[in-house]
Amino acid sequence: MSASQPNVQRAAFDEVMVPTYAPAAFIPVRGEGSRVWDQADREYVDFAGGIAVSALGHGHPALINALTEQAGKLWHVSNIYTNEPALRLARKLVDHTFADRVFFANSGAEANEAACKLARRYGHDVSGGSRYEIVAATNSFHGRTLFTVSVGGQPKYSDGFGPKIEGIRHVPYNDLAALEAVVSDKTCAVILEPIQGEGGVLPADQAYLEGARRLCDAHGALLIFDEVQSGVGRSGHLYAYQHYGVVPDILTTAKSIGGGFPLAAMLTTEKVAQHFSAGVHGSTYGGNPLGCAVGAALLDIVATPETLAGVAARHQRFVAGLEQLNARYGLFQQIRGLGLLIGAVLNDSWKGRAKDIVTAANEEGLMILQAGPDVLRMAPSLIISETDIDEGLARLDRALARLTQG
Ligand SMILES: *Cc1c(COP(=O)(O)O)cnc(C)c1O
Repeated sequence: MSASQPNVQRAAFDEVMVPTYAPAAFIPVRGEGSRVWDQADREYVDFAGGIAVSALGHGHPALINALTEQAGKLWHVSNIYTNEPALRLARKLVDHTFADRVFFANSGAEANEAACKLARRYGHDVSGGSRYEIVAATNSFHGRTLFTVSVGGQPKYSDGFGPKIEGIRHVPYNDLAALEAVVSDKTCAVILEPIQGEGGVLPADQAYLEGARRLCDAHGALLIFDEVQSGVGRSGHLYAYQHYGVVPDILTTAKSIGGGFPLAAMLTTEKVAQHFSAGVHGSTYGGNPLGCAVGAALLDIVATPETLAGVAARHQRFVAGLEQLNARYGLFQQIRGLGLLIGAVLNDSWKGRAKDIVTAANEEGLMILQAGPDVLRMAPSLIISETDIDEGLARLDRALARLTQG
């Protein structure tokens, strides 16, 4: 620690921060690959990946190079000008996906805000005002702005903030009949996570996404995939829609796309993009040179057959390890998810105890996530080593042993 920096401790959080979070007892200060060290130099294996963000782990040389090289050239010019890193990254995203056009933002919520506004504008333009309904899934998560909590299907995030955005309908996830019952000629868009992340790592059924696509086509509505958590290689495909073979009209990507640098994008088709003309939407930092330089370097590594095949192999190793733990402790009723977005659903005797497991794991030197009270979630680096997977699982084993004895 440099002499000019005052010493800070975890207790300061409860004194100076708005209490929107309840962070762990330790403060991480440095990371390398899938290992992290705290203030006391205790070492952790990282299965959390910054909640599906640190796609290449910590301190990846290619990302450090991209960021520092760009930092020496140009940080910001605003969208009154365009910039080379943004154009390069947009071109890569277009080349690798269904999309023809890209809008950059800084967070998942902002990308979804853009997607929902674009869908509303599209509906307005094609109908003269009668097509504005957005259909979303219960238990879905789309971000924390007022529009995105209104669209999200979790009242705990949207209640208590006064009137919500109107014209949003919620239906149970993976229930095609329920979707069919509400999609109409008033629907401008159906928004779905191909894998519900915060909602418990719940992948969509193949027939559900195919049915959603058919319904949207039949009614002239847009299909939006929120791939903020499922995207950028996490499913073993660059985007989870490619796993399903169901193509949306709009896709949002954030979290892993910046590998830890705030970056997000909304991808769409030529036809839909034209409903956002100059001045209709925007962002000061969206598409800033630093973030886009990092995103382009990251995509060059993630969007390769080697990295994507590696995700599938690591999935197998995780699942095999979790099944062994389950044989010993009998705590999971299901292990689900795609690639390196894995959810272990606690059975009845462990229900509600995901947080206890996370805390015990922290104490054994493992960073791991929950997705609600009943699901243990893993979203590590896409290039986490076999050694780190095995060591993390061994630490989880010790945490569970302690919990079962205690
Ligand atoms: C995390 C997440 C968001 C919100 O992203 P922020 O960057 O926190 O705004 C939106 N949708 C999904 C599916 C997410 O997992």
